[in-house]
Amino acid sequence: MADASLTALYQDIILDHYRRPRNKGTLEHATISVPMRNPFCGDEITLELEMNGDQISDVRFTGRGCSISQASTSMMTEMVKGKHVSEIGHIGERFRAMIMGDADAATDDALGKARALAGVARFPARVKCALLAWNALERGLAQSAEQNTAETRDTET
Ligand code: ZN
Repeated sequence: MADASLTALYQDIILDHYRRPRNKGTLEHATISVPMRNPFCGDEITLELEMNGDQISDVRFTGRGCSISQASTSMMTEMVKGKHVSEIGHIGERFRAMIMGDADAATDDALGKARALAGVARFPARVKCALLAWNALERGLAQSAEQNTAETRDTET
C-alpha cells in the first residue's frame, strides 16, 4: 500500500474512534477511578476500571481533548477489556515503543488498530496525547495491585 493511502486509512481509524468512542461513560461498580490530564494540550480523561483480581472485567472513560488523546483512549479500552495484568503490560510496552518511533512495534499485531497512531512518533508534541490513556491505565493498575495487597494483609491478620 502506498504511504499516502496508508496515512489516509490511519486517519480514518483515528477519526472514527474520536467521533464514536468505544467504552465511553461510567461504570456502576468501578473499583478504580483515575483522573489524568495533559496540560500541554488540554486533554483530560477519567478512566474507570472494574477489576476482578488481576483481570480488567470492565472499563469505561469520560473526558475531552484532541482527537489523538480521545481516540487513543478509546482504542486502549478496547484492547485491555477482559485481559489480565500480565498481558496488558506487554501491550503497553509495545505501544509506548511505537509512539517513541520503534518501527518493529509499529508492525506488531498485538497492537491491532492502535497501530494507526504510529505516525504520532513524528510529532513529539503529540506523544503525551497518545500516552495519556496508557499512563492512566498504569496508575490504575498500580492502585489495584495496592488494594489487592491490602486485602491479602487484612485476611491474614
Ligand atoms: Zn492532545
